[in-house]
Amino acid sequence: MKALKDRIIRDGKCFEGGILKVDNFINHQMDPILMKSMAVEFVRRFASTKINKILTIEASGIAPAIMVGYLLELPVVFAKKKKPSTMENMLTTTVYSFTKDRTYDVCVSKDYLCPGDKVLFIDDFLANGNAAKGIIDLVQKAEAELVGMGFLIEKSFQHGGDYLRAQGIHVESLAIIESLENCQIKIKD
Ligand code: 5GP
Repeated sequence: MKALKDRIIRDGKCFEGGILKVDNFINHQMDPILMKSMAVEFVRRFASTKINKILTIEASGIAPAIMVGYLLELPVVFAKKKKPSTMENMLTTTVYSFTKDRTYDVCVSKDYLCPGDKVLFIDDFLANGNAAKGIIDLVQKAEAELVGMGFLIEKSFQHGGDYLRAQGIHVESLAIIESLENCQIKIKD
């Protein structure tokens, strides 16, 4: 998606270890106009998919997910990274975060992720695919169906996308970063 690629080139910052910082428009300050355009693009790319629920993971997935949910007029559920003491009926999985180099539990209530749900997962980044694998586990535990996964930015050099596509999952990424070597951002045309 051209507008996102242009913005990454303009405002994205590269950090050691293959990290792209997009704090200026996605992860800290947010650009709602761009966020809406990205959601419109997801709606277009998943137009032939039957969906009844949007799923994301807190915190950075919530903004794009709510935009998609708004456009499709569908509920948006976010998996939580901390188990609330009041939450019963929970499904839990463990995710390794390479940006933080630690594992954390992710949970979602069975009240909101239900058997038979047709779930579109939306998140900000796809890197090694660990968060995505956790989501696949939660969706399976809920006996729901994962009908697609949409990411604002995929870092193809970390191969999470290869894994997900090899599983037969419909994956859409709005910008694909091929390399961040020498702190130079190379985006797929
Ligand atoms: P994965 O689980 O696919 O390895 O990583 C995905 C998660 O890690 C995303 O939800 C995102 O929060 C975070 N992440 C991975 N790579 C980056 C990056 O380059 N920049 C930022 N800001 N977050 C990242």
